[in-house]
Amino acid sequence: MAIRQIRVIGDEILRKECKPVTEMTDRTRELIEDMFETMYEAGGVGLAAPQVGIRRQIVVIDVEDGNQYVLINPEIIEMEGSQTGSEGCLSVPGKSGQVTRPNKVKVKALDENMEEIVLEGEELLARAICHECDHLKGELYVDLVEGELMDVQAEEE
Ligand code: ZN
Repeated sequence: MAIRQIRVIGDEILRKECKPVTEMTDRTRELIEDMFETMYEAGGVGLAAPQVGIRRQIVVIDVEDGNQYVLINPEIIEMEGSQTGSEGCLSVPGKSGQVTRPNKVKVKALDENMEEIVLEGEELLARAICHECDHLKGELYVDLVEGELMDVQAEEE
């Protein structure tokens, strides 16, 4: 496993649409492992493949609910309610902003074995699913921020 370089806003790959994954390969398996490692190292709760420079529809999420979600070719099939809260992105370091998202979503995807799954998420998980799926379309949360993008103060020890 290896930590990959996280692309930051301004890098054009973050604005490109990603291609579907058609088969699982050793390379893709390694990419998924690296994405988790990179996300944990950076302290994030989700990461999309274009954030490490790969234009494929792959998302990893860990909102500390005991699961490591891998979503390949994800498609949000249901949304319900709304939530407004603070959101950030590993590709927009040091910033956060208020974003309104559905409170509950249902997403259809393939897992790391290319088997179809349907995942339901509420609150933070719903927010993470929406945020990461947007990355696969070349969209960033900064497009949706209500009001100003704010600087995140580094926490003092
Ligand atoms: Zn992001």
